[in-house]
Amino acid sequence: MQNPFGQRRARLLGLSQLRGKTAAPAPAPADEPSPFVACAGCGEALSRSQLKANLGVCPLCGHHHPISAPVRLAALLDENTARPLLCKSGFMIDPLKFSGYAEKLAGLRRKTGLSDAVLAAAGKIDGQSAVVAVMDSRFLMGSMGAAVGETITRTVEYAHRHKLPLIIFCASGGARMQEGAVSLMQMAKTSAALARFSEDGGLYIAVLTHPTTGGVSASFAMLGDITLAEPGALVAFAGPRVIEQTIGEKLPEGFQRAEYLESHGFVDQVVPRGEMKAVLARLLRLHAKGGKRA
Ligand SMILES: [Zn+2]
Repeated sequence: MQNPFGQRRARLLGLSQLRGKTAAPAPAPADEPSPFVACAGCGEALSRSQLKANLGVCPLCGHHHPISAPVRLAALLDENTARPLLCKSGFMIDPLKFSGYAEKLAGLRRKTGLSDAVLAAAGKIDGQSAVVAVMDSRFLMGSMGAAVGETITRTVEYAHRHKLPLIIFCASGGARMQEGAVSLMQMAKTSAALARFSEDGGLYIAVLTHPTTGGVSASFAMLGDITLAEPGALVAFAGPRVIEQTIGEKLPEGFQRAEYLESHGFVDQVVPRGEMKAVLARLLRLHAKGGKRA
């Protein structure tokens, strides 16, 4: 997506000729992103503004490209209702003194404006109060270290304390190897917070976006009372290539994709991004009514 005139150049040029242009678009200066990107699904050229307006979904083939946590939150929460949680209080630990890790984090913080790979806010979804955490795959592939685990845990505890429904948009490459065993501890910590929340009747909706893998898929991503997924999302502990190499067999078509998981009862519903807010609002409304009857 970052280099639309790289591997896809021939196809992009073919498209421009098909549309009657006599010359290929002039490449953008190196310090400016091109106004076009190639769809990761169909390979066609899309304008960045068109893709942005469509929340990263290709209007031609429906492929869902990753979107940032701020963009997702802005699209989901009603205007002027978002209250960031823990946004600026991010912390870092570097238990292994992993080579280059501190510099990498500092660079990503500057580039993304995030303190780590998750952003949390309280707000309203079509008038329904909720607490929402969104993972951002731009930040070290959404990997879970101490900062992500702590933010998720405190977000769960905030929802618990205020008796609010909780929604987590998962997107992760798994545990953050740079933090070693500390990153693995986050699986137990987040799961324990969710167990306490659940015991007290809290509603947790997990939304699995591409990709949800490793330690996140083995902890809070799988603990939803309701589990939704975006179309085409890879949801796995180990990826398909690793499994095929381990067992020496070819996996079924679509294995570990959202639609396959929905048809096997692992995901409750695959929801296109454009319908996500309406579906979540309906679920929150049903839950609120159930609470009044209880
Ligand atoms: Zn496409």
